[in-house]
Amino acid sequence: MPQSVHTALIEVLGNAVLSAIGAMRIAPDRALRIFAEHGITQLEKTAWYPLESVLGAYRSIQKQIGPNTMRAVGRNIPKNAEFPPGLSTVEQALRSLDTAYRMNHRGAGNIGGYHFESTGARRARMTCDNPYPCPMDEGLVEAVAERFKPQDAFFIRVQHETELCRERGDAACVYNVSW
Ligand SMILES: [Zn+2]
Repeated sequence: MPQSVHTALIEVLGNAVLSAIGAMRIAPDRALRIFAEHGITQLEKTAWYPLESVLGAYRSIQKQIGPNTMRAVGRNIPKNAEFPPGLSTVEQALRSLDTAYRMNHRGAGNIGGYHFESTGARRARMTCDNPYPCPMDEGLVEAVAERFKPQDAFFIRVQHETELCRERGDAACVYNVSW
């Protein structure tokens, strides 16, 4: 986990965790068992859970099952999420990620976030310094761009800058998105 992020007093909304579990291509009871090992035995949509326990469970799942599962979890988030009305472009949608992230977390501390920067026509740079797994954010950024891409865009390209990665203990991952 990045050193600058302090998660001890932060909680995450159950709904966000439930939709993540729904996206795991593993038996739900296996995922639920891993969450139980991290102290979360009952998940309810409107309840709040310690972020550190949730992150511990995600790390176990990533280790036991692999980064592709985490990427699938990230890709699934925009399918269930409600976006604010009026969002119509990739830029707006990527910008809204940080707000959505803050709505699903509460408590005192620095939770990092999702930082949008336009780098040209149909290009953007997303800097993620939140404590979630890198593959999850990669899937999330890709799926958000995919959902809001203009009709004439054939594909979304997400390229992880190689210098930094949270999986290696750095504070952030930087994704270049083009469409
Ligand atoms: Zn990374």
